[in-house]
Amino acid sequence: MIDKLKRLIFPPRCAFCRVLLAENEKHVCAKCAQKPYALSRPKAYKGAFYKNALAAFVYEGEVRRALHRFKFHGGLHLAEFFAEKMAEKLQQTDWEFDLIVPVPSHFSKQYKKGYDHALLLAQHLSRLTGVPCKQLLKKTRRTKPMYGLRVSQRRANIMDSVACVQAVEPRYKRILLVDDIITTGCTLAECARVIRDAGAQEAYGITAAGIK
Ligand SMILES: [Zn+2]
Repeated sequence: MIDKLKRLIFPPRCAFCRVLLAENEKHVCAKCAQKPYALSRPKAYKGAFYKNALAAFVYEGEVRRALHRFKFHGGLHLAEFFAEKMAEKLQQTDWEFDLIVPVPSHFSKQYKKGYDHALLLAQHLSRLTGVPCKQLLKKTRRTKPMYGLRVSQRRANIMDSVACVQAVEPRYKRILLVDDIITTGCTLAECARVIRDAGAQEAYGITAAGIK
């Protein structure tokens, strides 16, 4: 009843093309569900300190626009959509993890944006997978936007900018790090390094989208 009312007041639109959804459609319209990006093959982002990382989508076209709506234009409901796709991607792997940890945004950036995207995705993923979620990592200093930086500059930019707020409990040996976008994997590698220093044994990464 409440869902029906919600649909009436806020008719759900396709995450990609924004058409109004039919009652049997969820998040994405039938037409967009057929498009290749919905089926985009997982690419593995190899990097130091983490075992493997995957993105649910390639960061381009409609996906890129949807992610921008999620991040900058109040498309909060899209967190659920992206998290579902990330969960589907995880199901295709043999990864095992005991704890979900969001990649931290700097508090001032969070404040400006109003909410923390990686945390939102991590919380939805936790609900979908039944694996607990903890905000174990925090930024310790401001970093420059990664956009346009070379890999060596990215590494220098992120180095020692993340800290673990407490030692990782022994029952959480394997950590799944969650972020919205993966580019070179530098941020993920730094988070994995820090969380392993704090006691975790393995780290994986999953993001909503990744640069091809
Ligand atoms: Zn559509």
